Amino acid sequence: MSNSQSNNYGGRPARAPEQTEEHYRLRKALCEIGRLCYQRGMIVGSDGNLSARASDDTILITPAGAMKGFLEPHHIAHIDMQGQVLDDGPKCSTEVGIHLVAYQERPEIRAMCHAHPPHAVALSIAEVDMQMPVIPEIIVTIGGIPTTPLATPGTNELPDSIREVIRCSDTLIMKNHGSVSVGANLMDAYKKLDMLEHTARILWLAHCVRGDLSPLPPEAVAKLLATRSELGIRTKNTLENRCGLD
Ligand SMILES: [Zn+2]
Repeated sequence: MSNSQSNNYGGRPARAPEQTEEHYRLRKALCEIGRLCYQRGMIVGSDGNLSARASDDTILITPAGAMKGFLEPHHIAHIDMQGQVLDDGPKCSTEVGIHLVAYQERPEIRAMCHAHPPHAVALSIAEVDMQMPVIPEIIVTIGGIPTTPLATPGTNELPDSIREVIRCSDTLIMKNHGSVSVGANLMDAYKKLDMLEHTARILWLAHCVRGDLSPLPPEAVAKLLATRSELGIRTKNTLENRCGLD
């Protein structure tokens, strides 16, 4: 089935006068990253949602109920920072609240991916702690991957549940549900989602071989974190207070 045949999400093409070059570029990028998430098994059906903040402080976001692997630029919703739909365009994602909270709490970020990566979600169901420092690359680049408490999707519980943690971490797992990753642009947010799910796969395999894993010793973690400045990495999550989740 071609993309044009599979797309029937309603919404009319965004009217040209409101469409800046930047908005169109972001709309295209949202479609591309949506396809990537779908192809990589990070989402199925109409799971997940993606957004990007433009320089005019409005947000381009995937529409409600759509399959994010098959979107075209005119399907993307355009909202303000309060979640109100602009341009008389498509309705935005029902999980818009987690995006708004992320942009409120992290004014420097420009994009967010919410997906349902299967290994990471499975580990949260099994209550495996993804903040445990075991993989050097992740310690240096991401820090830890915290899991937020169980919250009901489609209610204010969900955005409220991530508010504290998103302040100190670019990635998190919402227990039994899905991931959130934020970044300087959509590819950066996607990259962190990819790393998060790859980490979950490694931890899954390690747990299959031996149930009780040990973290790296604190001095090894400190040495790894010390390399960040040399590498020019300024990730918020330093593993110091486990994002207040203890
Ligand atoms: Zn979700």
